[in-house]
Amino acid sequence: MSIENKCGICGEIHTEYPAFTFTYPNPYYWLTDEQKSENVKMDADFCTIQYPDRVDRFIKVVMRQKIKKSRLYLDYILWVALDEDDYNDYLFNFGNENHEGLYFGWLSNALPDYKFEKSIPMDVKAKTGNQRPEVYPVLDFSHPFVADFYHGITKEEAEKRVHHILARSPR
Ligand SMILES: [Zn+2]
Repeated sequence: MSIENKCGICGEIHTEYPAFTFTYPNPYYWLTDEQKSENVKMDADFCTIQYPDRVDRFIKVVMRQKIKKSRLYLDYILWVALDEDDYNDYLFNFGNENHEGLYFGWLSNALPDYKFEKSIPMDVKAKTGNQRPEVYPVLDFSHPFVADFYHGITKEEAEKRVHHILARSPR
């Protein structure tokens, strides 16, 4: 065990990192209590929000943030918005372990320490074996979050995020 593997914050060696999980897509938090109970349908993998003029559709996905010079990933369990066709295709095939597909979505959670004044387009890869779909920010979209995703974050940054997760989760 080399010193470099030790966490700079707690001094332990993390062999895996806890996932950073978002309970709801961000627009949920902008609703009134009445709207939350009347207009939202949600389970572990799907969420719809009914507005007077439209329905917004979200699915739960995983994003695996790579870390420089490390085998570990930091997993984010988050929500992306899909259009009606993609949402229905994913819903129709949910539970079909042979289903795979590529969808297009919009990131619907705000990761800490980034400014999201514009929505981030995401490629959504539905995988065989009933795994949670994995998302990748659209490569040529200019945003620090997208750059970090593809370049990897530093071990120190990962540790900072991990301890942020550990601090907020009830244990
Ligand atoms: Zn640590």
